[in-house]
Amino acid sequence: MSDRAKERVVIIGSGPAAWTAAIYAARANLDPLVYEGAGSRTMIPGGQLMFTTDIENYPGFPEAVSGQEMMAAFRKQAERFGTRIVTEDITRVDFGAYPRRLWSSGGTEIEADAVIVATGANAKWLDVPGEENLARNGGGVSACAVCDGALPFYRNRVLAVIGGGDTAMEEAIYLTNFASQVVIIHRRHELRASRIMQERAHAHPKVRFLWNTAVEEVLGTEEITGLRLRDTVTGEKSELGVGGMFVAIGHEPNTGFLDGALELEPTGYVKLPVGWRTQTSVPGVFAAGDVMDAYYRQAVSAAGTGCMAALEAERWLAHGGLALEAAAAD
Ligand code: FAD
Ligand code: NAP
Repeated sequence: MSDRAKERVVIIGSGPAAWTAAIYAARANLDPLVYEGAGSRTMIPGGQLMFTTDIENYPGFPEAVSGQEMMAAFRKQAERFGTRIVTEDITRVDFGAYPRRLWSSGGTEIEADAVIVATGANAKWLDVPGEENLARNGGGVSACAVCDGALPFYRNRVLAVIGGGDTAMEEAIYLTNFASQVVIIHRRHELRASRIMQERAHAHPKVRFLWNTAVEEVLGTEEITGLRLRDTVTGEKSELGVGGMFVAIGHEPNTGFLDGALELEPTGYVKLPVGWRTQTSVPGVFAAGDVMDAYYRQAVSAAGTGCMAALEAERWLAHGGLALEAAAAD
């Protein structure tokens, strides 16, 4: 038996999933400890919504709300019920023994009865000049058509979608609802998308393709005005005037720090063995939000699964999860 202070529930992450889990766990008197992340160029405490301006599809905000405002309110609500917060990353875990052990970037070792992993995912970006600035300032660059496509900014404009997979096809077709034209820009001459999605995109009168084309720069200071392009075969440069760019080249779940401690899907997302449960391959370890969801990837679904994870953790602790673990160790 270790003499280290043992936590009831440790929550890793700080997006809608983590804060919702914290609100539920705190109100259930589980005294949760949240590791919200230390922050880096691509990830900041508060999660992906910190990179966006207006959120118009989260219920309860009829006039829209900024991502930063919304995440500050989520955090404050979790704190109101006594959630403790540490602004560090969890860098390593050991889920092979009981209690579960975690290590933080500040050098702390933590023991926990139950753990909720809510570390989210990152949209992949092109990493070209102009992209980050215009994405952060609501200047017409986005990585989520469902989130941003309906904003007035994008109406009746020529919109570029970057990528050749199913996400790019789906986003392009969705954007035809608002755009005057959608140009899919793909670096090769062959799509990666499934046959049916390819056919749908090809058949749509508002969609056209630019093949063998890479984006080298996003043009515009306050608002996007166009793209500087390079032909990936001939090297020839050109410019295309657009009123918006949607990057759809995939997502990366933040699971690297788990280093094999949980079973993952082949795509890297946390695997959940039972449908409609957030229990992972390790008893007492739950996953919520984009880290386990490659399909919906929305703030409201992340918050919903955060609630589910906290309720499951509470029930697991209340109904003998600990006793089962102890018996397993005998
Ligand atoms: P995330 O929001 O991904 O947050 C996870 C956070 O956990 C990270 O930011 C980091 O701070 C922390 N973390 C990661 N690893 C560690 C670690 N090892 N230790 C400690 N902490 C860690 N959805 C909508 O519903 N509506 C929108 O309008 C909308 N707009 C969007 C705009 C953009 C530009 C993007 C990129 C996404 C948008 N989304 C929107 C999607 C939405 O942001 C995500 O679905 C949601 O944020 C997922 O929440 P999450 O709680 O799973 O984690
Ligand atoms: P994906 O299949 O990995 O496709 C990513 C696309 O982006 C590829 O075409 C790739 O080009 C391109 N790309 C990657 N990095 C790039 C870069 N730096 N610059 C330019 N282009 C780049 O990802 P996805 O489309 O997000 O799909 C992920 C998974 O979800 C897939 O299994 C997909 O089938 C599934 N999905 C299914 C549906 C559906 O069925 N309705 C919808 C969405 C997603 P290359 O082709 O040259 O590598």
